[in-house]
Amino acid sequence: MTSKPPVVCGVCNLEPPKYKCPTCLINYCSLACFKNHKAIGCTKPEPVVPPHSADEPKAGIALEDEDDAALTDEQLRALGTDPAIRALLSSPDLRQVLNDIDSSKDPEARLERARANVPEFVQFVETCLDTVGKMKRDPTKTS
Ligand SMILES: [Zn+2]
Ligand SMILES: [Zn+2]
Repeated sequence: MTSKPPVVCGVCNLEPPKYKCPTCLINYCSLACFKNHKAIGCTKPEPVVPPHSADEPKAGIALEDEDDAALTDEQLRALGTDPAIRALLSSPDLRQVLNDIDSSKDPEARLERARANVPEFVQFVETCLDTVGKMKRDPTKTS
């Protein structure tokens, strides 16, 4: 068996092909067969290995973000004793908002609304971030 199998039109499997589909590279013999081919469905052959599968370190980054967002007990204690935060927490509006967020089914949406509507809350968040940020930069605390 040294001879190649005879090449025939990939649509009708009868005639020797004269043309090639530019999309899927199937051989076809005539315009009629090409139309049939397009009607049946012409799809580009998928490459066996997708080109962008190797370099996607998404999971790792997401984990780091989460880690960064969580506060340690120490940080929470510092927040609770920070005079600026304590002063803010004496505002009934802010306490109400914090309670709402805590008991909300959709805390993130509630939080976004609070950010837009309650200036004390914005100030509270900023003060918290500030306090935590100072702690992180504190050179006496090495982990
Ligand atoms: Zn044909
Ligand atoms: Zn095709």
